[in-house]
Amino acid sequence: MALLFDAIIVGGGPAGAAAAKACAEGGLRALIVEKRALPRPKACSGILVRASIDLVSRHFGAIPPDVLAEPAALQSLRMHFPSGRTLDVPLGGAFVRRGPFDQWLCRAAGVEISEGTTARSFEESADAVKVRCTRGQGEALVVQSRVLIAADGGTSSIVRAIVPERHGRLAWYAALQEAWDVPCALEPGRFHFFAFPSISPYPSAYVKDGNTVLEVVAAAGDSAEAAMKRFSELLKRGFGLGEGGRRASRLGCRVAYAATRGLFCFGSGRILVAGEASGLLNPFGEGISSALASGRIAGEAAVRALREGRVPGVLYREDVEAQRQRTLRQFRYGSYLAGRDVTFDVRRGLAGLPAADRIRLVADSLGWLASLGGPAGPRPGGGRS
Ligand SMILES: Cc1cc2nc3c(=O)[nH]c(=O)nc-3n(C[C@H](O)[C@H](O)[C@H](O)COP(=O)(O)OP(=O)(O)OC[C@H]3O[C@@H](n4cnc5c(N)ncnc54)[C@H](O)[C@@H]3O)c2cc1C
Repeated sequence: MALLFDAIIVGGGPAGAAAAKACAEGGLRALIVEKRALPRPKACSGILVRASIDLVSRHFGAIPPDVLAEPAALQSLRMHFPSGRTLDVPLGGAFVRRGPFDQWLCRAAGVEISEGTTARSFEESADAVKVRCTRGQGEALVVQSRVLIAADGGTSSIVRAIVPERHGRLAWYAALQEAWDVPCALEPGRFHFFAFPSISPYPSAYVKDGNTVLEVVAAAGDSAEAAMKRFSELLKRGFGLGEGGRRASRLGCRVAYAATRGLFCFGSGRILVAGEASGLLNPFGEGISSALASGRIAGEAAVRALREGRVPGVLYREDVEAQRQRTLRQFRYGSYLAGRDVTFDVRRGLAGLPAADRIRLVADSLGWLASLGGPAGPRPGGGRS
């Protein structure tokens, strides 16, 4: 027999937790289904940009101290160029530990959570969605609800079932994150991004919880392990990364930028796709802000639709359009020059620098962007898409 809920939310990341919180506040009986045990590991730097901090404080309250990393404050995105120049883009962000952060969000949502439960398939009818799950040693669990919110991340199997051809039309990149218990000369409290396309389209490093964390992505034809080796050699040669040490963690995943190809998917009549599953992911791989925002919008759309007897998917697509536009804007060069609602406000970083430095840094940035494949952003073979 199926368990009955108003809303089932697949995925216990920021999008799923934000959706669940809105459902609970709207009086819906909701269930989060998460395939991993919480806190689950997630390859992520754990940076909350200003928009994420605002959404968290508005809907969840103050972040508990044990969820914040050390250091907890993040001053800037520091871009390093092969010319030796650097550009600090102010962030005013926070650094969190992703596993505990997501667990806290899910618990704070105030709905039932079924951990270690994987959604396997679903059937949508005119007035309900039936989701078949497995948990433990393959025990079956069937849940029926009036709305399904798919917040199952960038490689969403639900989106793959809705739009099977989309997966093959995206350019996928392998992301790899390693934390090393070795010192590094990189300044703490900054996210160091290396505009060195010969290493990887997006190599970055930072100091977190006493470790030096290195991240790379690799396009098809390259390997993330090889990119990581090139990156650690660069950091040892020029940025004071120590030799040896113990590897504290290693996480990987696959990522794709849907925005550069317009391949968003927001679902159907009773299936609302939120977060990275929908394709909402900003440049530099920033996705928590749009996951929190779209999850919230999905939960609110579910509440309103069930109250007013309307089709949830229609309401959701109307309301999430601003997020889709925001994401598209982040990939347009002009938005950075105009300083228009961009996550990484390069203009503020350039302000106050002598004119000659500004010109050189703009040239450095344009050179890096061009190496990735032109104004629409990274392209396959040249960068993360
Ligand atoms: C290396 C790297 C660094 C990043 N750094 C940052 C950063 O610093 N700041 C930032 O804002 N963004 C960052 N991002 C992006 C960010 O991590 C994601 O965009 C964000 O986590 C998306 O949230 P989400 O809730 O949509 O999905 P996720 O956080 O991916 O959550 C999806 C959840 O769904 C679960 N799930 C999947 N399938 C099923 C299923 N069938 N049944 C049940 N559960 C399922 C998964 O286990 C997972 O817990 C980074 C990404 C990478 C790869």
